[in-house]
Amino acid sequence: MNLCDYSEIKKLLEINNFHFSKSLGQNFIINPAVCPKMAEMSGIDGESGVIEIGPGIGVLTAELAKRAKKVVCIELDSKLLPLLGITLKEFDNIEIINADVLKTDLHALIKEKFAGMKVFVCANLPYYITSPVIMALLESRINVESITVMVQKEAAERMCAPVGSRDSGAVTVSVNYYAEAQKLFDVSAGSFMPAPKVDSSVMKLNIRKTPPVDVTDEAFFFRTVRAAFGQRRKTASNSISSGLGVAKQAVIKAIADCGFAPDIRAEALTLEDLAKLSEAIKANIL
Ligand code: SAM
Repeated sequence: MNLCDYSEIKKLLEINNFHFSKSLGQNFIINPAVCPKMAEMSGIDGESGVIEIGPGIGVLTAELAKRAKKVVCIELDSKLLPLLGITLKEFDNIEIINADVLKTDLHALIKEKFAGMKVFVCANLPYYITSPVIMALLESRINVESITVMVQKEAAERMCAPVGSRDSGAVTVSVNYYAEAQKLFDVSAGSFMPAPKVDSSVMKLNIRKTPPVDVTDEAFFFRTVRAAFGQRRKTASNSISSGLGVAKQAVIKAIADCGFAPDIRAEALTLEDLAKLSEAIKANIL
């Protein structure tokens, strides 16, 4: 069946008594140009394994299955499983797991399902958990080549902004620590059924083999970053001292030790600057 044809989809949903759940972020792609482009740009080939989060009725899944060796989908809504059985019946390289992606052990899944394969993540993410899913994928350091995801346009712009630019934030720094982020293309709200209120973008995170900066204490580095961006209108010294709960003098000294202006703001700091600063703060508070 044509998974981008509005009336065919409507009929399928009606027959199966399926109703969209807003709280599960269910907006299915109906623009026929989007999924082939996304699957193509994700870089998968006939030897690849793919993890898809939230297949919906399988419009992206089918494009992934045409190109990859194996696709494993994680779908939370059990009501979609019988529909996926119908829409994807022509494929024998797809497995659907009925689970919450945030509660799934992806290390174990990769080991069990994709032995000997290069693994990619490709998904149109449910927007209510975009950042938690992306950060969980990155922080757990699962062994994947890249993560190609559709997210809200503003979220993509934030994550793909250069660190040290006005549009950067704590999430920009975190994403860039683990991956090279690249915005691929925009997708209008009208490309979905039902249409969301916001536009979307597809972005690709190419996972780095090693972090681009050296930090002796990753947890402290990320705490410093979150503190620095915690109060955007304040100077970095004010935000960091209140966010970390350390004496302002210690932070001011660390900023001076790094050679930064005393009134510098977090968004002016590059990844290297933030790494240097977190090391200097640590040295000044010990
Ligand atoms: N891939 C389909 C498409 O592009 O048309 C559907 C994408 S829709 C934006 C998000 C999908 O994620 C829905 O199928 C929804 O049920 C599923 N979902 C929501 N929360 C989830 C979770 N925590 N774990 C796994 N899937 C989830």
